[in-house]
Amino acid sequence: MAEQKLHFVLVPFVAQGHIIPTLDLARLLADRGVLVTLATTPVNLSRNQAFVSRPAASPPADLAPPCCIIADFCNPWLRHVARELGVPRFDFYSIPCFYLLCEHNLMHHKVYEGVGGDDVPVVVPDLPVRIEVTMAQAPGIFPPPGWKWMRDEVSEAGSSSHGTLVNTFASLEPGYISFYEKVKGKKLATDAANRGDKPVINEEKCLTWLDSMELGSVLYISFGTLVRYPLAQLVELGLGLEASGRPIIWVIKARELQSAVEEWLAEGFEERTRDRILIIRGWAPQVTILSHPSIGGFLTHCGWNSSLEGITAGVPMLTWPGFADQFLNERFLVDVLRVGVPCGMKRPFWDETVIRGDVKVKREDIKKVVERLMDDGIEAHELRNRATELKKMARSAIDVGGSSEESLTQLINEVSLLAKKQTISATEIQQEKD
Ligand code: UDP
Repeated sequence: MAEQKLHFVLVPFVAQGHIIPTLDLARLLADRGVLVTLATTPVNLSRNQAFVSRPAASPPADLAPPCCIIADFCNPWLRHVARELGVPRFDFYSIPCFYLLCEHNLMHHKVYEGVGGDDVPVVVPDLPVRIEVTMAQAPGIFPPPGWKWMRDEVSEAGSSSHGTLVNTFASLEPGYISFYEKVKGKKLATDAANRGDKPVINEEKCLTWLDSMELGSVLYISFGTLVRYPLAQLVELGLGLEASGRPIIWVIKARELQSAVEEWLAEGFEERTRDRILIIRGWAPQVTILSHPSIGGFLTHCGWNSSLEGITAGVPMLTWPGFADQFLNERFLVDVLRVGVPCGMKRPFWDETVIRGDVKVKREDIKKVVERLMDDGIEAHELRNRATELKKMARSAIDVGGSSEESLTQLINEVSLLAKKQTISATEIQQEKD
């Protein structure tokens, strides 16, 4: 019997934070000789063209039938497609096991029942570390009105999939992974490369700027791809950064760059801070920046990709979550890994006060946390030491023979076995018919 070529179909959710880790996985699989089809929209394909066109050792696409579907957890509808095609489906989570476990425990123990308000913190049950979270900060569990159907769909798809892939690595969250594995699953990690859109800044220019700064002295600031803050909050952040006196790279995404923001920058801020604050307007080469030795801290919105990139680069973080999994990711960085210092965001960014344009984090507080993270005090040293440890752990996970490599092998072997079983039973059915 001819050996069946392995063909994985990957379907990310259409948002950069989901497409980027799926592309990482696609490339890792292609490097192992698996034929990979990635389904996305033309716009999203063109945004990631640089990454997609990198050479990979994938065999030519000769329409081998798919052996499995890897479905982003936000695409629960794929369970119907997989069932129709008769192929196994693996869910792909671009959020950590820590989050999945918190969500599971909060729901299982119905913790929020009877709690008097969505600002009241509760303790997440059955965790080795004390974690507090409010109902407003856990929107995955209590989605905004009108989205309950999505939560139910995701949970239904999760319980009927063949297996679970999580973008993490074994030594980062061993206790949380093993608990989650009791439900079902496997784990994977990604490697680092620039991802997503074409950077708006010339990478050389950015690196030359970083080269001119002292080792570990620069704070890098990015709020990811979706969270968008109003002018008043950006101004407050800018003034806090200016008062800190530190060298900074500040990414202001294209959708935040309204004319009012440009006017404010032009009114003096950019001129006053030109020698030490580099503003990137649009897409930044984040992974390259984070791995530069001049970077000493990362102010992040706690998106899971950014959190993992900060961990892999070994930089301590200032945490400023926006929504979705980000508040629990903040708790993970601050309370579990202890590589983060919170900036003080308490409510999700879709909160009406943010939409109205209120300031949620004040300039004095921003100045204070930047100092805590970037100065020479004991706390900053400890944060840096732990971040360096995590970087080493991340490196060994993706090394040859590391846990992430091992997980990938297990996944490929399992799909291969399933494909063989399917081929054998199809042959038997055919023989019976003949
Ligand atoms: N990113 C980037 N340059 C930017 C903004 C974002 O390279 O200017 C990348 C970042 O490295 C990360 C992803 O986009 O891989 C953002 O994903 P994350 O989960 O952190 O945030 P979200 O997309 O959910 O806001």
